[in-house]
Amino acid sequence: MITGPETKLMAVIGDPIGHSLSPFLHSQIIREAGLDAVYLPFLVKAGETGKFTEAARLLKLAGFNATMPHKNALTDLVDELDPEAESYGSVNTVKVLPDGRLRGYNTDVRGLFMAFERHGVKVKDSRIMIIGAGGVAGALIRGCAEAGAASVTMVNRTFEKAAALCGSVPVAKALEWTGENMSRAAAEADVIVNCTSLGMSGTGMDFEDLSFLDDSRALICDLIYNPWETRFLKHAASLGLRTMNGMDMLIYQGLLAFEIFMDVSLDLHSERDRLLPLCRDRLTGASE
Ligand code: NAP
Repeated sequence: MITGPETKLMAVIGDPIGHSLSPFLHSQIIREAGLDAVYLPFLVKAGETGKFTEAARLLKLAGFNATMPHKNALTDLVDELDPEAESYGSVNTVKVLPDGRLRGYNTDVRGLFMAFERHGVKVKDSRIMIIGAGGVAGALIRGCAEAGAASVTMVNRTFEKAAALCGSVPVAKALEWTGENMSRAAAEADVIVNCTSLGMSGTGMDFEDLSFLDDSRALICDLIYNPWETRFLKHAASLGLRTMNGMDMLIYQGLLAFEIFMDVSLDLHSERDRLLPLCRDRLTGASE
C-alpha cells in the first residue's frame, strides 16, 4: 500500500474496537475498487467522542464509522444530521465535508432492511418482536414504524428503557421480560430480532432460556455475527425456523457508509455476494 497526500483516510471508533470486522470489510472494498484510501480502527472511550470529532476535522478524514458507545453522543456533536440519523437519534457514519463540517448518517437500519430483503422478509405489515432496548433497538423500532410494520413488541431486561422507546412510537408496545410475555410475543411475531449482546463472543453472556421460541413461526434474526451461529440461532434452526445472523447487516451498512465517505456508487448486492464469504472466512479463521 502506497499512501500520499491524496490518500483518503477513513476510520472506525469504538470501545472495544479490537473485535471490529469493519477495517477488514472496508479494506476489501478499497482493494477491489482500486482506490487510494485507508480505513483504520481507533479505540476511543466514552466521553472522548468530542475529541475525536475535532481530530477528524483536523486530519481531514473522509469520514468515520462509530460503534458502541458513541452512536448517541454523535447526534449532538455533528454539525448536521441526515434525516434517517435525526429520526433514529443515532449516528453510525460521519462524513467530513470539504469545509470541515461534519454530517451524521445512520446506515444501520437501512443495512438491516437490505439484509431482511435478502432473506425474503418485508417489514411492511409484519409483526416485529425486538429483544433489547439499546442503541440499535431504538433506531430499529422507529425504522420499523416508518416502514409500515403492523406492530412492534419490545422486550428488554430493563423494562423502563423499552417503555421509554415505545412511548413515542404508536405501533409499538413494551413488555416485561417474563417467560410468559416472551412466549406470547414470539408466537405472534413474523420476525424476531435479538438486539442484545446476549450470545456475543467474548461476553460470556447468553440467553438462560430459549423455550419462548417453541411456538414461534417467525424468521429469527440475530444482529450478532460473531459467533457465526449463536445459541439463539442454533436453537431456532433446531425448531425448523428460518434464521439469519448479523453479517449481512454489517456488510450492507458498511457498503452504504463507504458510498457516503468516498462519493461512489457501488453495486451493493454483488459486492455483498463477494464480501460475505471473505468476512465469514476471516471470522472463522479459514483464510488465515
Ligand atoms: P447497547 O446499546 O449496548 O444495548 C445492549 C442491549 O443488550 C440492551 O438492551 C441491554 O439491556 C441488553 N443486555 C446486555 N446484557 C444483557 C444481559 N445480560 N441480559 C439481558 N439483556 C442484556 O448495544 P447496541 O449498540 O444496541 O447493539 C446491540 C447488539 O447489536 C450487539 O450485539 C451488537 O454487536 C449488535 N450490532 C450488530 C450490528 C451489525 O452490523 N450486525 C451493528 C450494530 C450492532 P439493558 O437495557 O437492560 O442494559
